[in-house]
Amino acid sequence: MRRIPLTFLLIGCAHIQSAVGTDAPFKYEFASPEMDVDAPAPVSEDMIATLPLEDVSADEYAAFQAEAGRLSLHFERHCRLLADAMRQHLADVRMYENAIVRYYGPYKFYGVGHAYQQQDGRWMIRIARRFDGLNRRTLDDEMKTLRHEMSHTLGATEQRIGDEWSARDYAYRCA
Ligand SMILES: [Zn+2]
Repeated sequence: MRRIPLTFLLIGCAHIQSAVGTDAPFKYEFASPEMDVDAPAPVSEDMIATLPLEDVSADEYAAFQAEAGRLSLHFERHCRLLADAMRQHLADVRMYENAIVRYYGPYKFYGVGHAYQQQDGRWMIRIARRFDGLNRRTLDDEMKTLRHEMSHTLGATEQRIGDEWSARDYAYRCA
């Protein structure tokens, strides 16, 4: 397995988001039939794949708004908090066309989203529309990623810590 030159990667990450640098590490959500895993940090060739960002479509926006509305009435407190986060951050969601494909050991992973906080405190949330050129993700897929990424704005981590919900918990338990 190939070692990843970390310092170089951080430069690469800062570069892609260009305008404003960020202290926060990128968080890529990787989906595969087997599991969601923490992805290794992206390498320079991935940077190209993340460009260009696109605005949320009218259909997506309507669906995301509806999702926030649905979650605001959810019986779980966590999901209602997630609804608040969505209302606050939906304007900062951008889409990219294809997932970022990485090979990791025997697995092929599709990076379908990430979220990070800028130095000014503003959250950037990115969601992929497709796994690849042939396989479109459904709106439900995008919404699952939205829940996952939004939960990071509430401080959710990738792995469950004690009773705290992980981002994956938000993605699945608020479904
Ligand atoms: Zn995450």
